[in-house]
Amino acid sequence: MAKKTETLLDKLVSLCKRRGYIYPSSEIYGGLASIYDYGPLGAELKKNIKNFWWKWMVQLHEEIVGLDSSILMAPRIWEASGHVESFTDPLVDCKKCKQRFREDLLEDSDTCPNCGGELTDPRQFNLMFKTFMGPLEDSAHVVYLRPETAQGIYVNYINVLNSSRLKIPFGIAQIGKAFRNEITTENFIFRTREFEQMEMQFFVKPGTDSDWFETWKQNRIDYYKKLGVRGDKVRFHQHGENELAHYAKEAFDIEYEFPFGWKELEGIHNRTDFDLKRHQEYSGRDLSYFDDVSRERYIPYIVETSAGVDRTLLTVLVDAYEEQELEKDTRTVLHLSPPIAPIKAGIFPLVKKEGMPDVAKKIYNDLRPYYNVFYDEGGAVGRRYRRQDEVGTPFCITVDTETLEKETVTIRDRDSMQQERVKIDQLRKFLFDKVETV
Ligand code: ATP
Repeated sequence: MAKKTETLLDKLVSLCKRRGYIYPSSEIYGGLASIYDYGPLGAELKKNIKNFWWKWMVQLHEEIVGLDSSILMAPRIWEASGHVESFTDPLVDCKKCKQRFREDLLEDSDTCPNCGGELTDPRQFNLMFKTFMGPLEDSAHVVYLRPETAQGIYVNYINVLNSSRLKIPFGIAQIGKAFRNEITTENFIFRTREFEQMEMQFFVKPGTDSDWFETWKQNRIDYYKKLGVRGDKVRFHQHGENELAHYAKEAFDIEYEFPFGWKELEGIHNRTDFDLKRHQEYSGRDLSYFDDVSRERYIPYIVETSAGVDRTLLTVLVDAYEEQELEKDTRTVLHLSPPIAPIKAGIFPLVKKEGMPDVAKKIYNDLRPYYNVFYDEGGAVGRRYRRQDEVGTPFCITVDTETLEKETVTIRDRDSMQQERVKIDQLRKFLFDKVETV
């Protein structure tokens, strides 16, 4: 039988498992469909992506503040938001092979893409996960796992206003888990049932929303370039009339060219005053804002930027992966940008003698409080470089004979493989300049 050719995604999945980026969840029990766990390097990368986003969106904007709202919320919130009624996808079944599909993702909605069989008529399927609060499992005690983090921001917007000095325009940002009982999951961590979102809701005066929408569109595309994603791999996709979500006046996706095609990475939506008006109606609370510049009272409009943490993580891995054919072998390298790379530097003694391990260990211990660095003294130095290349470590610091005389080390750059000599007492500054670049 012919051997199946390994796709880039296959290679990445295997690298992620082998080197501790991502594992299938509950693996020893046979796994749980499309749920994944992050290993030591994956956990670092995820944390770095979230920190990068937080720094870009919150720390660098005096008019944006953070929030951390709960996953379980009053069920009425999801009635007000429209999710109970219309957060649905059209589900079709194949009458022959019984496989399920999301009708809107099929090219031909009459024929099964798997076996060519006939498909059923579509049924609307609500994507929210339900559970029960308290000991009684009846309809009065149903609560939902949030399908987006945005609603936690809307229902807290008056609290945030009253406890800060913010004035319109301002934003509230949040990172947190969201859950969707997706009909089909696909492409590794691209679409999963449990995932994390990084959302920023920007509250503006009605009438200024279109300008703010443009501002945030530009800001968000700039962000991906700063994150290190190749510019020609990201583009906008405007939602047509029949793609628009129930709350949106205007929507653009930022798409990335994955090995499986151009797909959404982030959504930017003009949600108008839809959500706040609905929460005002359903809660009976006044959610209007008094604008002391224009002396008017109004319900703010909201421009939303909503990105997935896991999808960003897949994007940076796909974008960074390269196999380079060198003279003697193939070098696998992840060109992750230094701010998000899990390990910032590998630290090696050239050989395990002449006091080199002691000096390298001291450098390692001195840098550890500031950066995630990795000490390795096993095997030939070339192999140690390769091991770090494969996990995306941007720099390798090597202690050699010259170190003992001149207090300098070599720093090898992962991408160019060039080495430079740097004074040991300059290493912290060297890493700072490369890593703290948001
Ligand atoms: P799709 O049409 O692909 O189902 P969506 O338009 O419903 O996605 P949004 O509601 O705009 O997605 O969610 C914002 C972001 O959250 C997405 O751009 C994506 O990065 C992330 N996201 C949404 N659903 C998932 C999922 N099932 N798995 C991983 N990330 C997701």
